[in-house]
Amino acid sequence: MMTYDWIVIGAGITGAAAAYELAKVGFSVLLLEQDAIANNATRYSYGGLAYWAGVSDVTTQLCTEGKQRYLQLAEELGTDIEFRELNLVLTIDRNTDPQTLLANYAQFAVTPQLLTPQEAGGLEPLLNQNAISGALTVKHGHMNPILTTQAYIQAMQRYNGVWAIAKVVDFIKERDRILGVKTPDTAYAAENTLVCTGGWTRQFLREAGMPVRVYHTHAELIEITGTTPQLQTLVMPANQMRFALEAAASTDELDPLWNEGDREILSPIFDPGGVQFLDGRILLGQISRTLSTTSLQSNAQASESQIRAGLRQILPSLADLPGTWHSCLVAFSGTRLPIVGSVPNLSGVHVFSGFTNPLVYAPPLAQRFAQAAAGNNDPILSQLAPQSPIPN
Ligand SMILES: Cc1cc2nc3c(=O)[nH]c(=O)nc-3n(C[C@H](O)[C@H](O)[C@H](O)COP(=O)(O)OP(=O)(O)OC[C@H]3O[C@@H](n4cnc5c(N)ncnc54)[C@H](O)[C@@H]3O)c2cc1C
Repeated sequence: MMTYDWIVIGAGITGAAAAYELAKVGFSVLLLEQDAIANNATRYSYGGLAYWAGVSDVTTQLCTEGKQRYLQLAEELGTDIEFRELNLVLTIDRNTDPQTLLANYAQFAVTPQLLTPQEAGGLEPLLNQNAISGALTVKHGHMNPILTTQAYIQAMQRYNGVWAIAKVVDFIKERDRILGVKTPDTAYAAENTLVCTGGWTRQFLREAGMPVRVYHTHAELIEITGTTPQLQTLVMPANQMRFALEAAASTDELDPLWNEGDREILSPIFDPGGVQFLDGRILLGQISRTLSTTSLQSNAQASESQIRAGLRQILPSLADLPGTWHSCLVAFSGTRLPIVGSVPNLSGVHVFSGFTNPLVYAPPLAQRFAQAAAGNNDPILSQLAPQSPIPN
């Protein structure tokens, strides 16, 4: 049996970027993905690149590197990934004081600019100006996550990386060392395995006896295809409830609930917003649910109605376009920093997940990870290592 230098599990943006960077520095790489047709967070992502949103030396550095990486990426990967700059419009509910929300954004490396409803309408003509007391705006990057992921995988193959559709169901373990992985049909040997399984990570690693403090939301959204471009900006609420939900659901106190069978950790939230890609595809979202299980038992019709009702306030001309409800899992950590590094107490297995601001951070961190694997010490990676879990 061939022994790969690296097996990467999961071909969303994180796994694709990591597999490419590892192959590029000369490692033999096998990328394994469970789904032939992507049904993951990357597929349903808005594609926004918040490289203005650094809040510390580490995150500001990653934002700078992320922007630089995207400026080179299309040429390096040999594919148009639809990278561009667009205006982010962060809507402020008409009952909220705009100055209060602006103050919340003072923590970021670049502070967004406050707009009146009329000015916001000038940037985004589809916006209902009567629903808002103002908006914040900042230059945001944008790319097509589906094309970017495919581009990474194709470029990885040019460096002799291999990829296969197969679900990893277990690890090959000898005492405290991981020697590879098992799929239903095959065992694959590797010196190292990298787990890039997004919102599946916690359950997947826990079932393998490797608890890591990563969590997931179930996101629900509506996808609309076959329309001509009309939305000029990426629209989201300035007060994003998702971040508060993630912080509240990942406390030490609530962490043990995530290990129980089928628990709703906290009540769901809804952040009305949307984006349109250059091919016309529109995504309108999003509801986020914190459920301990990775399978969603939700009433799709009720969720779709809730999203459409919310969008009727903000972007009324899009709210009733025919579209399809989807859901996916989105990983997050309790610290708003990604979790990147060796799984505690084991060798040969590493995790690369739990990203906040994932589309910005994944490319530079994948590069740093590959360089570190090749023997170069990395001062940022050492700050992102998985923490030991809370004992149950
Ligand atoms: C509506 C929405 C909008 C978003 N907008 C933005 C945005 O504007 N900007 C931003 O930065 N982020 C955004 N995000 C978040 C971002 O999309 C995700 O965090 C990111 O794409 C996650 O990438 P990933 O590779 O970690 O996970 P995923 O894309 O979910 O990929 C994980 C992969 O692992 C595979 N896998 C899991 N288990 C196994 C197994 N056992 N064997 C084999 N394969 C396995 C899965 O099939 C999946 O393909 C958004 C998310 C949503 C839902």
